Amino acid sequence: MAETEGLPPKPRPLLTRLIFGARQAHLGDELLAFKFRFLVALMLAGASANALLALGSHSGHNVIAPTHLRVMEAFVVVALLLWWVLRLCPQRTQTLAWIFEALCLLEFASAMVFVPDDELRLLWYYINLPGVFIMLGLRAGWAISALSLVCIWTLASLSGAPYSTHAVATGSTALLALALTLHVLVARALSFHRRMQAASRELEHLASLDPLTGLLNARAFRVQSEACAASMQRSGLDYAVLFIDLDHFKSINDHHGHAAGDEVLRAVAELLRARLRRSDLLGRIGGEEFAALLPDTGAAGALPLAEALRQAVQALRPAIEGGQRIEVTASIGVATATSGTGTLDALIRRADSAMYAAKQAGRNRVTALG
Ligand code: GH3
Ligand code: MG
Ligand code: MG
Repeated sequence: MAETEGLPPKPRPLLTRLIFGARQAHLGDELLAFKFRFLVALMLAGASANALLALGSHSGHNVIAPTHLRVMEAFVVVALLLWWVLRLCPQRTQTLAWIFEALCLLEFASAMVFVPDDELRLLWYYINLPGVFIMLGLRAGWAISALSLVCIWTLASLSGAPYSTHAVATGSTALLALALTLHVLVARALSFHRRMQAASRELEHLASLDPLTGLLNARAFRVQSEACAASMQRSGLDYAVLFIDLDHFKSINDHHGHAAGDEVLRAVAELLRARLRRSDLLGRIGGEEFAALLPDTGAAGALPLAEALRQAVQALRPAIEGGQRIEVTASIGVATATSGTGTLDALIRRADSAMYAAKQAGRNRVTALG
């Protein structure tokens, strides 16, 4: 067990809680969590930069035209408001990213028109693009690149200080080159992320399976059973656990070899899987021991099913290499929890005891306790 498993999460520093709020842990998806943090950074950086420039103007260091100064001050207020909403509703990250982008575009347009003495004001459109490609995706990235070009071509001329044809040509080429680079980078990063996610899901799946039979292994059976039992208990439904242990399995190995024993285990596992419902959980929890958790099933359903399984195992007579058929039987212990009462641990212990009782009573039988 990992050292941190079961421990309460470490409290986050006060500054982190202040900036990101308390709810980001509920985002689940790693990419969305990254976008949330990135958008918080963009909003706070945008608000701070505008606040600093506005302060610089008020203190006479870099005087900005009054109309644009008002726009910058409004930007600071709206960006901080958006940040606050984002802190409270991280799941609205994508919508808030679009609103923030619209706010940025309005401010850039204002700079183009109302700050004619700033020859480099077209640079705002370039600074904007990386965030757009990352936050809003490739198609939005290209759409806003196109809109930026239109703004660079048209808005400057409204200001009385239009860009020269050379500046427009250089600016447009550079913006397209930037958009292309961002497209390649973001597309690669996203495809890498998707492949890593798929690989990690695949690994998680493989790590939960028993390699010999393909059934759940003991750990995965335990984890999934706990989740299932908790849900049954919440809904007040019955559920049952079957413990299935093959009889005198050691002697099968001794007489026919370990490979034949493996063949028998595979055949029994396949039979159990075929007989149980898709909603039932089935695991190989020991060498020749299987367990099943049957949701929404009381004693009236579990006992006949266990008996049918016992008879099916007996009738199976799996073939081993060379075609010889092997007699195999099972002892099955059954325990049921009615109306969601009792813990899974208690139920498993009862099913285990019931299985031992079946062994003591002569094997190849079903025994139920409580
Ligand atoms: P009982 O009826 O009391 O359950 O007797 P048993 O022989 O089935 O039980 P015991 O616990 O004495 O022996 C279990 C055997 O299962 C011993 C072990 O070699 C065998 N076994 C465990 N895992 C595997 C496996 O993966 N493959 C094979 N072929 N045999 C296994
Ligand atoms: Mg055993
Ligand atoms: Mg056994």
